This record gives sequence, C-alpha cells and structure tokens, in this order.
Amino acid sequence: MRGEETEAERRRRWIEREAAKTQPKTMRCSKCGKEVDEYMEIAGRVLCVDCFLLEENEERGAMRMPGEGSGGG
Ligand SMILES: [Zn+2]
Repeated sequence: MRGEETEAERRRRWIEREAAKTQPKTMRCSKCGKEVDEYMEIAGRVLCVDCFLLEENEERGAMRMPGEGSGGG
C-alpha cells in the first residue's frame, strides 16, 4: 500500500530528477579518438557509433563468401 506523497518526498523526487539530468558522460573512441557521449562498449573497447558500424561492416564483409553479391542494390 502506498500513502500519499508528502511535500518532502516530492521535493526529494524533484532533486533526484534534476540530478539525473547531469551532463552525459563523454568517452573517447578507442579507434578514431573522437570524444562522444554516445558510444558502444565492446570487449572493453569504447567505440563511437561510426566506428562501431564500420567494424560491424568489416566483420560482415569478412564473413561473406568471396565473389558473392557483386552489383547489389
Ligand atoms: Zn570512432
């Protein structure tokens, strides 16, 4: 059962919300060195979204059979 929110509780909630709004944490991409606040952590490495997509493409490219899919659209 939940009682009514008291003034103090409301105040505390508000403060918590404000605290959650602190600046995003920036990390440095371990591949290109760019500082980003949106990043992926893969196997302990920090990658920006660009590098993450690049690596994913590379992985996919490596897995692909050679000679397959030329001139796709
Ligand atoms: Zn990067």
